[in-house]
Parts: sequence; C-alpha cells; structure tokens
Amino acid sequence: MGRNSLQIADLQQKKMGFFNVWLVLLAPLATSALPVKPGDYSIQEVSGQFWHISDLHLDFSYHLTDDHTKVCLSSKGVNASSPGIFGDFMCDSPYGLILSSIQYIKTSTQKADFMIWTGDSPPHVPVNELSTKIVIDVIGNMTSTIRSLLPDMLVFPALGNHDYWPQDQLPVAGSEVYTAVAEFWKPWLSEEALRTFRKGGYYSQIYKSNGTSHPLRIISLNTNLYYSPNQEIGNITDPADQFEWLEETLKLSRQNNEKAYIIAHVPIGFLPFTILTTAMRDTFNEKLVKMFRAYSDVIAGQFYGHTHRDSIMVVLDEKDRPIGSAFVAPAVTPIKSASESESNNPGFRLYQYDTNCYSLKDLYHYYLNLTDANRRKEALWKLEYIMTKEYNIKDLQPESLQELIMRFQKPQSVDFQNYYKNYIVNFDTSEGCNDLCKKRQVCAIQHVDAHSYIECIQKHN
Ligand SMILES: [Zn+2]
Repeated sequence: MGRNSLQIADLQQKKMGFFNVWLVLLAPLATSALPVKPGDYSIQEVSGQFWHISDLHLDFSYHLTDDHTKVCLSSKGVNASSPGIFGDFMCDSPYGLILSSIQYIKTSTQKADFMIWTGDSPPHVPVNELSTKIVIDVIGNMTSTIRSLLPDMLVFPALGNHDYWPQDQLPVAGSEVYTAVAEFWKPWLSEEALRTFRKGGYYSQIYKSNGTSHPLRIISLNTNLYYSPNQEIGNITDPADQFEWLEETLKLSRQNNEKAYIIAHVPIGFLPFTILTTAMRDTFNEKLVKMFRAYSDVIAGQFYGHTHRDSIMVVLDEKDRPIGSAFVAPAVTPIKSASESESNNPGFRLYQYDTNCYSLKDLYHYYLNLTDANRRKEALWKLEYIMTKEYNIKDLQPESLQELIMRFQKPQSVDFQNYYKNYIVNFDTSEGCNDLCKKRQVCAIQHVDAHSYIECIQKHN
C-alpha cells in the first residue's frame, strides 16, 4: 500500500471513526457521509459530481502466454514485464481491466450527474495492425461497454489522436470515422452537437441540472487537429473552422449567462515530463490560451487526457493572476514504452462542483494497483486521494491551485512529493523527481503560454 493511501486512510479514520479503515479504502466514499465542519452549517451549497475517464486504449490481442514477447501487440515485440489478467506495464489495457474500471463506477455509491470521456480507445500498435474499420469497431466496443454498464449515465465524449486511422491524422472536413462515431454517440448527444461533430469532430451541448441559475455548456474540442504529428493540417490556420466556432460558442455562452466546461484530448500548455515542448503546435496553443483567457469568466474548468499522467495546470492572465483551472486525467491503460522508466497505474476520477456556478470544489481520484490486482486476480480499485485533503486547499479554484503551486516551489516540498507520486498514479518506483524534473513540472503547471513558460525555465536556471 502506498503512503498516500495510508494518509487518506488515517485522515478518514480520524473523521469517521465508525468506519473500518479497509472499508474506507476499498469502498467508494459517500461524500454525504463527510461531516460538515463547524461554522459551515449556514452555507447551503449544493454539490454536483461527474466522472472523468480517459485513454482506455483497448489491446484486443492481450493474452497470457509463456512467450512474453507475444502477450500483446502493443509491447511491439518487447517482453511484457509481469503480465497478469489485468494487464502489464508494457501493454495496453486488456478488456478485463477496462471492464473493472466501468464496473467500479457502476457499483459506486457516488452519485454522478454525468461523465466525461476524453478519448483514445484503440491500442498503441504498428499502423498495419489497425484499419479504419478496426478503429471504428474499437470505439464502438468501448461505447457499448460504457452504455451497457451505465445505461442511465449521460456521457460527454471527446475524440483522441488514436481514435483515427492512421493515428493522429484527424481530418479537417468530415470522415468515415466522424460519421460512424456520431452514430455511436447519438444516445448522448443532441442533433446540433452531432452536426458539428460529423463535420470536424467537435461539439457543444447544454447540460442543465435542476434548480440552478446558470446553464452549463460542455464544449468538446477536437484538439487533435492542433496536434503536431497531424499532417492533414498543413498551413491551415483554423482547421475545421473550430476556432471560429469556439469563439462564437463562448460569446453566445456569455450572452446567455452560461458557464462552460472545456473537454478535449490533447491538452493546452507544455508537457511536464520534458522541456520546451507543447502538446499542440505552438501557434495553436497560443491561440487557444488567448481565447481561454478572454473567456475566463465563462469557462469554469478544463479537462484533458493524452499524457497518461495525473497533472494540473493553472491558467494565468497577462498579469500573472490565476483565472483558470485545468486538469489532466491519467490513463486507464498502464502502458509505457521500453525507453521509459516510469509508467502509471490505471486511474480515473470524480469531480465535485457547485451546482449554482459550476466552480470546481474537489476531486476524488481512484486507482488500481496493477501489480496487486494481478497477484490477487481481483481488481480492487481504491480511492487514491481527495484533492483538497491531500494538499490542504479549500477548493479547486484557480486561486487555490496557485497557492498550492507556490508551496510546490519550496525546496523539499512534501506537497510536491505527493503531487509527483500522484502524477504517476502510485507507480512503484524509487526514482522520484530531481531538481531538473521538478523545474519542468512546476513551470508546466504554472505557465501555459510560451512567453511566461520560457521565462520560468530561465529563472530557475
Ligand atoms: Zn492515449
């Protein structure tokens, strides 16, 4: 068991002495059971919750065999490290792993209003192992898995760079994949949403919970159009007219007094594990950050996947004031490449929001210790951390994240050590994050635009 789990266990045991510690760790935590702090009684805040799942990456070839080079196509001929029924760190997800994650959500006592799903269903395999048909089939399979286990769940999906064949090459105007996927997602999305989705792989749709003053709009972007390896884009400045549409959508949202959540696969900002590298092409990143800054009064949260790691970003305005909170959910797939020393345990999360203004209040992160699950032959998903408790912050608002980042920067910051442990989802490693690693992390968390990011990197030199 990881130190974080122990800390959470301690904390929960103190707060809820009547609970058995194992029960707390193994069972989903009912938020209504958390005691109200003294002084909070007068505040009639109403909370809503939603799930976020990402990067399922089904490897349909996964099977246990004595020849470890043949366990999965996604290991690309490399030996699987310690294959078991729930997967291996050299492989994408076996179906049973994905099923166990959705099953956990199904049996959870946590009530959620909806779910967001930020893409990437097919596996990391050589291009000739897949085809347009296989990619469509895999997305269809993942969609029906979610629908059959969670028939009443409203799901807002986004496309990932692997949700296409050949991978990354998502086109600017219609495609067989967009059309087929629109059919799969019909039960969740409106006709208007499906219309823009068929055209460019993006949409927006109103989600409105009962008794709220603002409507909430979910804006699902196809940021794969801005992803560097996408050669379909060429010199097009506004692929699939998405920027124009996004600005119109946000403008209208503001007029209608709506709040918006941005969901997408490829995140804004800089990749935290390397240096000077944005996830998207630089010019598109700058354009998107500018737009998000201009509409920070409308945008109440941003949610991404793609990196397979658990990370946060705060969006600062030109005067370095915090104006936006962004979250990258780690993957369900545990895969790493042969050159990487660290991977992630499978994970997903639940966000808590204020149903009046849709500001983010908290995050419950769940994970599966893959090694342990394979040993037990049972997938015991556990609560890994509760963000406000883990970091002693009041909520997930931009100001709170900024305050936390300030603490991260202190030498030997325990908060940062916990953050890094969560970043790799409790992956068992002795490596840790040295000074160079920490500098990259901290600058990427705090600076999503090139100018301020470069300044941060230079300052720390
Ligand atoms: Zn992925």
